[in-house]
Amino acid sequence: MAPKILKDGTVLSFDTSTQSIKVLRRASILIVDDRIAAIEENSDDLPAPPGDVEIVDVAGKIISPGFVNTHVHVWESVYRSMGPNTTLPQYMGWAGHMGQLVPVAFTADDIYISSLQGYIEGLNAGVTSVVEHAHNNWSRAVMEEGYRAAVDSGARVWWCYDVMEREGFSAHEQWDAYGQLVRDKSALVSSGLSLDGLGWGILNGDGKAVDFIRGKKAELDIQALTVHHCGGPWPQGNTSPTRICADNNLYEADLPIIFSHSPFLTDSDKEMLREHKVFISITPESECHYGIGQETGHEISDQASLGIDTNWTFSGDIIGQARLWLQLTRLRQYTKTLHTGLLPNANPMAVEQAFLLATRQGGRALRRDDIGVITVGAKADLVVFNGDSPSMLGWSDPIAAVILHANAGDIEHVLVDGEWKKKDFKLVSLPMDWKDLRTRFLESSRRIQPQFAVPPPLPEKFWGTGRFGDVESVSTIYER
Ligand SMILES: [Zn+2]
Repeated sequence: MAPKILKDGTVLSFDTSTQSIKVLRRASILIVDDRIAAIEENSDDLPAPPGDVEIVDVAGKIISPGFVNTHVHVWESVYRSMGPNTTLPQYMGWAGHMGQLVPVAFTADDIYISSLQGYIEGLNAGVTSVVEHAHNNWSRAVMEEGYRAAVDSGARVWWCYDVMEREGFSAHEQWDAYGQLVRDKSALVSSGLSLDGLGWGILNGDGKAVDFIRGKKAELDIQALTVHHCGGPWPQGNTSPTRICADNNLYEADLPIIFSHSPFLTDSDKEMLREHKVFISITPESECHYGIGQETGHEISDQASLGIDTNWTFSGDIIGQARLWLQLTRLRQYTKTLHTGLLPNANPMAVEQAFLLATRQGGRALRRDDIGVITVGAKADLVVFNGDSPSMLGWSDPIAAVILHANAGDIEHVLVDGEWKKKDFKLVSLPMDWKDLRTRFLESSRRIQPQFAVPPPLPEKFWGTGRFGDVESVSTIYER
């Protein structure tokens, strides 16, 4: 792979001394292999790499680190636009991995093409790093095809498999199958574990969980742990930061731990996150859409990153999530002041903080200082915004241009590990022709979606204990 130079762009570099973005108005980046080898404001100062160099003029354009999505289930992508008005309990018993129809409706090929499209949707929108919560765990073939899609996608993926007792595919068989799967090392895919299914069995405070995870870490080269956590009025499992850190000492396994959603953190939970450097993944649109809630995310921004969750129900890009979270947080903080009868005298959250949540904080959640930042030595996972589109034209503040004005269509180039994934607005390096991918995806989607035409009724209680309450609805129709 020839070294590359991105020449004379506006670079959103990361200043490690101030932990903030340093805008370089006209700078060039030298990429050698998978890393950023040099950043210079005068391109003549770049060291000359040996051999041929690919030089790309990015004058007038904005170079951002790749976005980091710390929570998603890409195997569900074929459901696109189903369930636009659903709640979490409806989704869980219907289209989620425990839905009765799911193992019948999906073939292993469906899982492959659905997952692949999900990663590619992300790459097209500049999402270069992904934590996949892989709960496609009902047969060996669907597990393997989900993993193969991650490898083939070209995205950087932490593939966190959810081991769980399933009919016809026992936990024992799953460990065995996962062990064989991760034996074939991929440069861009790291193995990980989801603790949802495991949690009930091992997180019982008997002191054995950490040894169990340590054993799996050594055996499977585990690089990350993730788990769904809601708390508050949601039925409580063993998944709170307090339960996982204070009662089960899982931090001793020395792995990144990401708690997805976590909308009702207790003071003890927040303390555990900070003390043990573990993170939450706020998924703003999911938490709005499904009624999950998000009461405490803004209080723990220092240990927070951003995720998407079900990319078929709403936006599949991290810019959209960052924008939504920024404005939700502003609204929440302003409202507190307005309720006192006084007017807000300042804006509570800077756009740079939303940008950092979408990039650097994802890298921190994964304990990777070389992900989500533009620094010398960091991974060359980069996004180039054209900046000349009708939505971005006239920008002067590049962070505001990206977070408040850009969309996936403004992204001209994407690199992962120093290789082009999108070039001149077109996806490149796909494992198959886009036309074939599209045909296969549509075939799966059009066969699967009708099988889920009617969501099942809500159970009387969610998971046996969660009681339902009325929700005031909103309508455009005037009724006297
Ligand atoms: Zn989820």
